[in-house]
Amino acid sequence: MQLVVQKYGGSSVATLEKMNKVANAVIKRKKEGFNVVVVVSAMGKTTNNLIEMAKSISKEPCKRELDMLMATGEQVSSSLLSIIFQEKGYDSISLTGFQAGIKTEGVHTKNKISEIDTDKIKRYLEEDKIVVVAGFQGINTEGDITTLGRGGSDTTAVALAAKLKCECEIYTDVDGIYSVDPRLFSNAKRLDYISYEEMMEMSCLGAKVMEARSVELAYKYNVPIYVASSHQKGKGTYIKELDKEMEHKVITGLTVSDNVLMETINQVPYSSEYISDIFSRLAKEEVNIDMISQTSSGDGYVNISFTTSKEDEGTVDAVMKEYIKNTPGINVKKDTDITKISVVGMGMRNESGVASKIFKLFSDNSINFKQVTTSEISISYIINASDKEKAVNVLCEAFNL
Ligand code: ADP
Ligand code: ASP
Ligand code: MG
Repeated sequence: MQLVVQKYGGSSVATLEKMNKVANAVIKRKKEGFNVVVVVSAMGKTTNNLIEMAKSISKEPCKRELDMLMATGEQVSSSLLSIIFQEKGYDSISLTGFQAGIKTEGVHTKNKISEIDTDKIKRYLEEDKIVVVAGFQGINTEGDITTLGRGGSDTTAVALAAKLKCECEIYTDVDGIYSVDPRLFSNAKRLDYISYEEMMEMSCLGAKVMEARSVELAYKYNVPIYVASSHQKGKGTYIKELDKEMEHKVITGLTVSDNVLMETINQVPYSSEYISDIFSRLAKEEVNIDMISQTSSGDGYVNISFTTSKEDEGTVDAVMKEYIKNTPGINVKKDTDITKISVVGMGMRNESGVASKIFKLFSDNSINFKQVTTSEISISYIINASDKEKAVNVLCEAFNL
């Protein structure tokens, strides 16, 4: 029998009515001769609500407890969906991450999957059950419940598909991958195909339609992904290896991320010892640094700016407080009213002049930027949040996105 992993995101299982539609879609697939492993997210905005509740008690809730709390969301949706299948006359079983054999490592709220033991899932599939797995969670070597980072149900689904050697279908509230988030630019175009590398870059740079690590896993294990709408029929987008079928444009997509925090540390003594101290303290706390820039050292001091995600604000504040204590004379400025805007495309590997075209567009439209970084297939700019809409429109029109 053929096998498929299907993942349904929070908006697709937001109500019992929507879950009922999901169940019908899964049953349809079952009738076509497929065994189905269904991975679900928590209902609607459940995860956000749970986090808010914890934060109403404590500014910095203990991350182990946050994991315990957040994991309940997916446990609710998976068990309810399983009950729906049973009511419809289909044998089904729901499994937590632990029961599904998902072992993890790392720090709480940002765990990574280290191993999956799929024996139990396979046994239930052999018994002709629809297996419903709670996404986003696993268990660590201490036996504690862990979560995989926001949007982590995508990672659960792709990791299971990799291990079970089958295709992974991601059903969400949009009918595929667009050149740019259709909520930001209404003329955005749906792509029939996108390469793993471009999708990975777009996800890392803020396109939350696919969680970045899930695409990285798919690329590594060559898992074909199909992204489509859970509520409307029609074509979606295949994420796969770059090939001749794909349209070759210099820029494939544009992403925007408001989840950016920029710290500027002024008057740091110009010594690699001091600079490395800052970043090793941050690394120890598993703060993911994105961009870094440093001014020249005219007077023996440098100014350093770096960006990270807003989720790490509390940790960064604590690290900086400690650092200032040990390094008199420096001062730190925090900037949160900023946006990162990036263009992504494999075509940039062979084509120069994209950065200069964007500098010109920004200059013609009075958009100032605070930082710029480039990778082989992307260029990112930090701009003021107030210029976001203008920048999106200007870039989408200029690059025909
Ligand atoms: P789910 O709850 O199903 O995991 P998400 O909210 O995580 O769904 O992701 C879907 C959303 O991603 C869409 O509603 C859309 O606004 C957003 N998005 C961001 N960038 C893109 C893009 N390039 N193409 C499609 N959707 C995008
Ligand atoms: N429920 C989790 C979140 O909101 C995981 C997911 O939706 O993929 O981040
Ligand atoms: Mg998601």
